[in-house]
This record gives sequence, C-alpha cells and structure tokens, in this order.
Amino acid sequence: MNRLAPDEKAIQPAGLFTHILLKDDPLTDLADWLKPAFRSIDQMSLRQYLTEKGASPEALRLMDVGVPGWDLDTGNALDFLRKNHYYFWEAKNGPYSVVRDGTSTLTDAMGASLKRPVALDKRVVHIDAAPHGVSVACADGSKYSARACINTIPPTVLKDIPISGGVPARQREAWQRQRSDQSIQIFFEFEEPFWEKDGLPANMWTDGPMEFFAHTPSITNPEGVLRAYINGRAVQPLNRMSEAELRATALKELVRLRPAAAGLVRVGHIHNWSTYPFSKGHIANFMPGDIGRYVDLVGAPVGAMYFAGEHNSRTTAGIEGACESAENSVVAILETLGKA
Ligand SMILES: Cc1cc2nc3c(=O)[nH]c(=O)nc-3n(C[C@H](O)[C@H](O)[C@H](O)COP(=O)(O)OP(=O)(O)OC[C@H]3O[C@@H](n4cnc5c(N)ncnc54)[C@H](O)[C@@H]3O)c2cc1C
Repeated sequence: MNRLAPDEKAIQPAGLFTHILLKDDPLTDLADWLKPAFRSIDQMSLRQYLTEKGASPEALRLMDVGVPGWDLDTGNALDFLRKNHYYFWEAKNGPYSVVRDGTSTLTDAMGASLKRPVALDKRVVHIDAAPHGVSVACADGSKYSARACINTIPPTVLKDIPISGGVPARQREAWQRQRSDQSIQIFFEFEEPFWEKDGLPANMWTDGPMEFFAHTPSITNPEGVLRAYINGRAVQPLNRMSEAELRATALKELVRLRPAAAGLVRVGHIHNWSTYPFSKGHIANFMPGDIGRYVDLVGAPVGAMYFAGEHNSRTTAGIEGACESAENSVVAILETLGKA
C-alpha cells in the first residue's frame, strides 16, 4: 500500500529526495551556500529541512533509505542542497557521455603524460609539513620531499595520519567531523537474464536490506552488470556479518524478491567502501552546523602542504569537485612559489 501523501504519490521512491529537497530551492549561484544568508539552513538536519518542506512521515521513512549520505539526522541540509543544486545545474548542460573503454583510460592517459610515472602502492604513514617544504613517509620506507605538496587523502583517512609541523586542533577536528557516506556494492554473476523470464525490470529500489539493484551495460558482458547498492545506515548490520553471511544474505534477498533468479545467479565481487582502508566511505559530508564552523578549515594549507579532493570543492561536487579543488591548490602553490 502506498502510504505517501496525495501530492507525493506520483513520485517514485528514488525521486522523492531531490523532489522535496529542491522544492523552492533558495540557492541561485553555485557558491551561494558559503554566504552568511544561508547559515540558518546549515544548522538544520535533512530531516528538519525536509519536514519543513512538507515531507510526509512515509516520505521521510523512504528518503532515509535512499539518502545519499549516512541518514536524514546527521546529514547537513545545506550541504545536500548545494550538491544537488549543482547536479541539477550540471544536468541542464545536456546528457553526459561515457569514456570509451572505461573512465580509467582517461586517468591512465593523464598518468602516462607525466614526466615521472605515478608511484603506485605507496601508503602515506607520516607527513612533515614545514613552511618551505613537505616530506612524506610511506609504509614501505620510501620518502618523498618537495617544496610544496597537494594532499588529496580523504578526511576519513587523513584524520588518523600523524602530521608534524602543526595541524591546528580545530582543523583536525574539522576532518574528524566529516561524515562519509557508507556504501557497499555487491556484484552478481548470472547465467541468463532472469528479468527476461519474469518480465519485470532488472532495476529495483527496495526498503529491504539490499536497498537498490541496478543493471548497467558492460563492455565485457553483453548482458550487462547487476549489482546491489546499499548505502548509509543500512551498511552497519552488513558490516557485522562475515563475508559468507553477506553473500548468502544478498543472494537470499534477490531470490526472495525475484524468484525467477533462483539457480541463475551467483554473488561475485563485493566492494565495501566503508571498510576500504583508503577511503573509509564514499562522499564526505558535513554534519548539521558544521559548514559555518569548519568549511574554511578543512582545506586550509598547513605549512607548504595544500589540500584537494572533493571535500574541498566550493562550487562543484564529486569528481568535478576534486578537479576544481586541485586547480585551486595548483594556482595557490604557483602564486606562492612565484611561478604564476
Ligand atoms: C560507488 C561510487 C560512485 C560514484 N559515482 C560518482 C559519479 O557518478 N560522479 C561523480 O562525480 N562522482 C562519483 N563518485 C564520487 C567520486 O568518486 C569522488 O567524489 C572522487 O573520487 C573524489 O576524489 P578525491 O580525489 O577527493 O578522492 P579519492 O578519489 O577517494 O582519492 C583519494 C586517493 O587517496 C588515496 N589514499 C588514501 N589514503 C592514502 C594513504 N594513506 N596513502 C596514500 N594514498 C592514500 C586513495 O587510495 C585514493 O586514490 C562516486 C563514488 C563512489 C564510491
């Protein structure tokens, strides 16, 4: 039974969040969220903001499943508003294109164009950030020094890396307070497309333990790729399971929802972003009240160490946010070193 309010019933569960969040969107400019005029929204959780926008209790329950963050209570309304404002602004530029042979061909080509190859498999364990130079020590004993450095380690990981040279306590607090969305992706291998047997779409949005099932095209499998995508608070009970339990739970849930999948599907690769030690989560978000408190501290240079990464974006978000912040730091370094 659809328990949504009459004016919400026509909206699919996956669309509720942006529909209600962007109702009477007060932001115009992409950098508006940094203006003092919007500080009152910074103080609000998503639950408070969406309730104020008229969301029914059932819409709130469904949005708490789908929210691309931890949950409605720890999500900062202004942070989600500004990111979604950007996504919709970006979508106005027309449909996106995909990179032929996969996105990594682009980054591989960028890496290959460098004078010195990218050093892979290096885990930074200590940083010495002095005003006129930075030294980085790696777990394998190697060290790198330079007049300046751009640090793109996500705040969830960075907060635990020792840095000598004096990170202000409030800045470390700013990294600690960043709440990174938790997510797990479970990929299914299948003999034949079960959705052609039962005639229903392969994609599913559910409020069960596996949350979303997405079917996407693949360059290696003509039948595409099917994955379950679980994010936010729903990740916690799954993280308490052994891998064997998680695999069994995922398969059982898929077959419960789609009996036609029985015997045709296996669980393949599982990628857990929340436990992956080099990200410990998905996209970083501010908690309520934290934009005003920390936005200028998260990426403030420490000595000659500058910061980049999506969590330091000012106008864009996601990958574009990472690129935007990197450009800002490159310009700041060139200005400091007198090369601009
Ligand atoms: C499943 C998923 C889907 C997404 N889809 C999209 C999308 O469609 N569009 C979009 O714009 N964004 C998307 N994003 C978000 C996007 O991937 C991020 O915003 C972007 O990658 C952030 O870039 P970054 O450089 O800040 O951090 P990252 O890409 O996380 O890079 C940080 C790097 O630091 C390294 N690192 C961490 N710790 C250490 C250490 N101690 N020593 C050395 N290296 C370390 C990591 O290995 C990593 O290479 C998605 C993210 C996920 C997880």
